[in-house]
Amino acid sequence: MTEARLLASVALAGLAGVATWRFRMLSIVGSALAALLGVAALRAGDRWALLLLAFFLPATALSRWRRSAKARLASGVLSPNATRTAIQVAANGGVFGVAALAAAAGVSSWPELVGVAALSSAAADTWATEVGIGSGATPWSWRTRGPVPPGTSGAVTLPGTIAMCLGAAWMGTAAARAGFEPEAALLGALGGVGGALCDTLLGATVQHRRWCPRCEKLTERDVHDCHTPTVGRSGWRLMDNDAVNLLSTVAGAAIALALQAIVR
Ligand SMILES: [Zn+2]
Repeated sequence: MTEARLLASVALAGLAGVATWRFRMLSIVGSALAALLGVAALRAGDRWALLLLAFFLPATALSRWRRSAKARLASGVLSPNATRTAIQVAANGGVFGVAALAAAAGVSSWPELVGVAALSSAAADTWATEVGIGSGATPWSWRTRGPVPPGTSGAVTLPGTIAMCLGAAWMGTAAARAGFEPEAALLGALGGVGGALCDTLLGATVQHRRWCPRCEKLTERDVHDCHTPTVGRSGWRLMDNDAVNLLSTVAGAAIALALQAIVR
């Protein structure tokens, strides 16, 4: 085990533990899944583990930034415990994990590009959401063509959109620095932007929306913050935020593969 690998192992294990204990970022099962992702990344190689760290560290910091203000701003829309559960870890890291396992198994053609693109997509979406809500800017919805409450899916803010691009650029830079092929780093970052845009598109179209009959407001919550049970309003029942996140990382990888086919 090289020194860098040992360092990455300790950092990943420590991060998962600290996140659960101190920041309540991850449920216990979510922490276990995140640790499994770390193990898969380490089996694939040091650069995979470094890329996973490059995703986790700023995402953790950004979710901490103005956390109470964000919880207040989006309280009527997002779930009350918007902590990283097992399903959220799987939705954001699943495609990366599959790519890492394929790389560890000796597949050399697609895993690098797919891994970078999927994680860039998750990073771009996370940065956009955290900065968008934290900025306090009023989101503009593609669906209603007008302003909507913070946290509404399928809506965008200027600070969030800038953060989305920075998140993908950060992951591309991290990938190149960690030792991924320059082409995988660049096309992976571009795929990440595409994936995050797909997240917004799916959020504005098929994502499941609920309605509070008492407040007459749209929400993602099953029980609104006024304690009234909500009813399904539009979108597909199974297409919740996690399903949209998973599909977006798949889309990010597919876009990166398509770009690679074009440039080659
Ligand atoms: Zn209500």
